[in-house]
Amino acid sequence: MIIILKQDATQEQINLISSDMEKRGLHVQDIVGESTHMIGLAGDTTQVVDELIMRYDFVERAMKVSEPYKLSGRNFHPEDTVITIPGTDIKIGGGHFQVVAGPCSVESEEQILEIARDVKRSGAGMLRGGAFKPRSSPYSFQGMGLEGLELLKLAREKTGLPIVTELMGPEHLDIFEKDVDVIQIGARNMQNFSLLKDVGSLGKPVLLKRGNASTIEEMLMAADYLMVGGTPDVILCERGIRTFETATRNTLDLSAVPVLKKKSHLPVVVDPSHGTGYWDMVFPMSLAAVAAGADGLIIEVHNQPQCALCDGQQSITPILFDQLMGKVKKVREAIL
Ligand code: PEP
Ligand code: MN
Repeated sequence: MIIILKQDATQEQINLISSDMEKRGLHVQDIVGESTHMIGLAGDTTQVVDELIMRYDFVERAMKVSEPYKLSGRNFHPEDTVITIPGTDIKIGGGHFQVVAGPCSVESEEQILEIARDVKRSGAGMLRGGAFKPRSSPYSFQGMGLEGLELLKLAREKTGLPIVTELMGPEHLDIFEKDVDVIQIGARNMQNFSLLKDVGSLGKPVLLKRGNASTIEEMLMAADYLMVGGTPDVILCERGIRTFETATRNTLDLSAVPVLKKKSHLPVVVDPSHGTGYWDMVFPMSLAAVAAGADGLIIEVHNQPQCALCDGQQSITPILFDQLMGKVKKVREAIL
């Protein structure tokens, strides 16, 4: 961090800020130019926010030169992270592309097995399906819970597809550690820091969804919470943010893909289902996400979308999913 002092800052004031910063364990360096006096701070400056520095009335301004996240940052780890889903040869990141597909919620054995078989046949690498659902209304279907998890395990056994499902709270950490291949942290829990630390400590792959009002920097700090906890395997997921626009459920921020790829080494996937909220927008936005450089997609697929208990309006049918997979392949080849 660089602190630029006002012209009339006195030596006494410079000594004061220097000793305050040294007390925080930082290395302080005086930088005296012809007309400006600056102070450089080296060390862990994550604890020093610009606003705090501005409390010294002899400071003109402060500039951060390092990012507030570390483990997820490219500076820390220049090469792309490639995640291998344990017990499988499924890889994502660093040129390995994966599509995660399945219903918003597990609803019955027939439903999840039929969809799992269909998406596998079309080339999906992982199966998604919610057992515990974060619904906005307490009166909406809340998911099948542990029974849903058992059905996901059955679908994995029948198809070989690893399962991705959302963990809503700490009460299910043990069971998710034992049974789930990739733990999904939903948009609503992206900044549930104690949950992030606990999930990170399991050391399993995590799919981290962007909070619907979170910045990219906040998302990377959330990824750091998981990584500090212990897992190196975090998949970042852009799923749309809330804006003034009402034509779509969320505004899918596709520019987050190149931004995240530049700032982070972690794989980036896009969720065009929640990102748009409409089944007929999933096709074009999936292709756009691939063109933007995403390492994968997570797509809601339902065998009877009109009867779905959750998110039927944004779910595509297995037939459309199959067509989409063909087009995704073509776009990938075109941008290689
Ligand atoms: C989901 O994947 O079904 C879901 C609830 O996603 P999000 O957390 O992005 O809303
Ligand atoms: Mn959903």
